[in-house]
Amino acid sequence: MCGIIGCAGRTDDTLDVLLSGLEGLEYRGYDSAGVALANGSLDVCKREGEIERLQRAVDDSLDGADESDAGGSDGGGHRGPVGIGHTRWSTHGPPTDANAHPHTDCTGDVAVVHNGIVENYEELKTELQARGHEFESDTDSEVVPHLVEERLADGASFEDAFRAAVGRLEGSYALAAVTADTEAMLAARSDSPLVVGVGDDAAYLASDVPAFLEYTDRVVYLEDGEFARLESGSWTVTDAEGRPLDKSVSRVEWDAEETAKSGYDHYMLKEIHEQPRALRKALRGRVDELAGSVEVASLAGLSPSSVQFVACGTSYHAALYGAQLLREEGIPAQAFLASEYATAPAPVDDDALVVGVTQSGETADTLSALREAHRRGVETLAMTNVVGSTATRECDRTLLIRAGPEIGVAATKTFSSQAVACNLLASTLTDREDAREVVGALRDLPGQVQELLDDSRAGQVADRFLDGAGYFFVGRGHHHPVALEGALKLKEITYKHAEGFPAGELKHGPLALVTDETPVFALVTGDREQATKTVGNVKEVEARGAPVVAVTDGVSDAGRYADEVLEIPETHPRVAPVLANVQLQLVAYHVADKLGRSIDKPRNLAKSVTVE
Ligand code: GLU
Repeated sequence: MCGIIGCAGRTDDTLDVLLSGLEGLEYRGYDSAGVALANGSLDVCKREGEIERLQRAVDDSLDGADESDAGGSDGGGHRGPVGIGHTRWSTHGPPTDANAHPHTDCTGDVAVVHNGIVENYEELKTELQARGHEFESDTDSEVVPHLVEERLADGASFEDAFRAAVGRLEGSYALAAVTADTEAMLAARSDSPLVVGVGDDAAYLASDVPAFLEYTDRVVYLEDGEFARLESGSWTVTDAEGRPLDKSVSRVEWDAEETAKSGYDHYMLKEIHEQPRALRKALRGRVDELAGSVEVASLAGLSPSSVQFVACGTSYHAALYGAQLLREEGIPAQAFLASEYATAPAPVDDDALVVGVTQSGETADTLSALREAHRRGVETLAMTNVVGSTATRECDRTLLIRAGPEIGVAATKTFSSQAVACNLLASTLTDREDAREVVGALRDLPGQVQELLDDSRAGQVADRFLDGAGYFFVGRGHHHPVALEGALKLKEITYKHAEGFPAGELKHGPLALVTDETPVFALVTGDREQATKTVGNVKEVEARGAPVVAVTDGVSDAGRYADEVLEIPETHPRVAPVLANVQLQLVAYHVADKLGRSIDKPRNLAKSVTVE
């Protein structure tokens, strides 16, 4: 949620690096943005609203100052300005220009950006105000520059002053600070992600890699409690006491091209179309088709007595699906909403496995739930998309879903890749009689998704039902999580009311809401008992005048009772939900597009939810 970018050592384009870095972080969700440039003096510009507004304000105010300072020749020996930027997702105080970051101290010489929450800010603020400090914002964050200012006034170095200020904070933070006349940028983290980018002549800092991927793919992930110092061409990481730490530099595999829109109108549409490739990557080197076996090195030797999944949002739907796969094989498995699990954990046995499903690997609720599991001595597995994320570092094992960067706030390809990862986990832990068929179906999945994307009628269906008063999604068994996910996707990006139910539950209440203005999407594949029963439910809603959209492989006769059919290729029952879900992603996308919604950045939502 929200983001930080910093850069030290670029000679003449620091401001551009900051602004384009902020754009690279937009997907995380924000309501205001700002930058500060230090180069002998400190220039700060910040605005409520979109980065574009900031850009305009910067053009008006900072540009002149920056151009004259940026060459560094007459800037008091500076080799280039040091800069920090921030996208804010307000927690303390409304989104206004004054509350936007960076925040400064009373002298205007110290600038700080902060992600997270300073829990003891009231106490610190009262104390600072009593000593004469004047505050200009309602934020919790503003205490930090004032704390730094006091130590600097006592004669401390910038680094000591920053370290001492951070030492006073309780809560969660990713922080970056600069002063007018110091060539270094300082950073610290606790419970909020930060990564250092190592360039040849410059060093970068960001909440997430896409912010600086254009300039370097070499990164150093900071851990909780660590401090970083970035200068032109050099970086150091230290512990809380200032002892240097030997951090390894890793290379990220994503390239900048992968994070750009590549001609699509929206990241979401691009990411929906990337699914065939993402799924191939998820499977590569992990399945042996001839033997019908699955081999994932990081899962070797795993044999839990039971499995608990913890996750939020879309990942929770993948977790529900994963738990079902395991239960079918006789392994006790449940999926929990991580926010609930963190405060009211379920009983767990010693040989259990707790699986945290989190796209970013930074979801605060899921990390809390995993930490709770860890405290109880249970083995943990991170199922995530981000190498080096907090979840991967804190869990005993990692199963990477390999979907590549996902920028759209509404998760699409990562759900499909999580579903495949759940299959890999289930196949590793169990011996199915039809293992070969499952592996074959997984192998065919990327091609089938492509087929579906090429022929989908979702755009027409969206046109027809644009004015629905509400939308319902029903499915049984493996299709139940997809019914929930279809509804979530629609509500996230169209702002229309949508609900998903197990098909059998309709008549126990929700049917009261069904009218001729509420399209019902029914997920029905195959011709087994579950399909027959769902077709019965379809007839119930049809009898009440509701338009029905059947998402089906044509094997069941659901299409006969439907007003519209969204077809999916025939496959193994385990794999069908992934295909059905792609149709629902497209429906949500097209409805949102036709309604002119902000598809990649829906209102009030953030990509990586790093607050609990
Ligand atoms: N708590 C801070 C604020 O409300 C930081 C929010 C953020 O993480 O962007 O300004």
